[in-house]
Amino acid sequence: MTEPGTGTGTAAPGDPARAAVEVGASAASACEHLADTKDVRPQSNTCPECLASGQSWVELRLCQECGTVACCDSSNGKHATAHFAATGHPIAMAFDTGEDWGWCYVDELLIMPFDELRERARVQPS
Ligand SMILES: [Zn+2]
Ligand SMILES: [Zn+2]
Ligand SMILES: [Zn+2]
Repeated sequence: MTEPGTGTGTAAPGDPARAAVEVGASAASACEHLADTKDVRPQSNTCPECLASGQSWVELRLCQECGTVACCDSSNGKHATAHFAATGHPIAMAFDTGEDWGWCYVDELLIMPFDELRERARVQPS
């Protein structure tokens, strides 16, 4: 394999479209929703829907769009997933365990460490 481009370039020089693609193609974050998450305040310390129906839960998730707290998929209610299905809010973070990770329901992607990756996603030029 010999590189053909030794000076007599056949490709048009300075193709702006191609240059833009190459520069913008760094995939530092595979989840495009991360940069749009809010600094939410938890609306509760419980899963309100489980409480209302007298269920218990395993772990809680905090919606990064609206601050809704809901239970994880290991719980009977699966209210965090239900919250995503009802609202389309893409990302929920571990809440009551104090762990630093989030989950994007749209991309089915684990985001860890959450705070650091979110900061990085937010400062990225779009
Ligand atoms: Zn995502
Ligand atoms: Zn629940
Ligand atoms: Zn939400």
